[in-house]
Amino acid sequence: MTAADQLRTLIRTIPNFPKPGIQFRDITTLLLDPAGLRLATETMAAAISGPVDLVAGIEARGFVFAPTLALALGAGVLLIRKDGKLPGATIAEDYALEYGTDRITMHADAFTPGARVLLVDDLIATGGTARAAVRLIRKAGGVVTQAAFVIDLPELGGARALASDGIDVHALVDFEGH
Ligand code: AMP
Repeated sequence: MTAADQLRTLIRTIPNFPKPGIQFRDITTLLLDPAGLRLATETMAAAISGPVDLVAGIEARGFVFAPTLALALGAGVLLIRKDGKLPGATIAEDYALEYGTDRITMHADAFTPGARVLLVDDLIATGGTARAAVRLIRKAGGVVTQAAFVIDLPELGGARALASDGIDVHALVDFEGH
């Protein structure tokens, strides 16, 4: 079995969560499996090229993989958080949702311009969240050229959109549909 096949078997699908029509790809079952967690981390780390200063995890499930990947790559961890959560001075970026907008933030002094930042999240769907995180990191002067995800939903086009922003997109597993 390939690494992708092994990882796919460890990801659980919950239909119609959080709303009808959505197939929720649940990584909690992967996290419960020690060998699976190690395989996910090592496979992701092996795909990354060049030195990385910081691994940026997107709240909330990106926070799980950012530290494991950072340890594997010898990097630090940058938290990209929802609005109102960080205690220090922040910079923010808004992005469109199906209805309305959302906002992500980071500490304004998290890194000095030129820092090489790798973006990580559990899943890329439309890419709205990840693309906003790239804009945010670039606004702060970070150099972001790579992003890693456990899961890609290719039909939603997020990975393609992120690639058009100049990002090398690495995903461990693809799933059909939404
Ligand atoms: P998007 O901004 O559309 O790329 O959505 C990505 C974010 O939404 C990630 O943080 C995912 O954790 C979450 N997400 C979107 N679709 C799903 C899905 N089908 N299963 C699990 N998480 C999802």
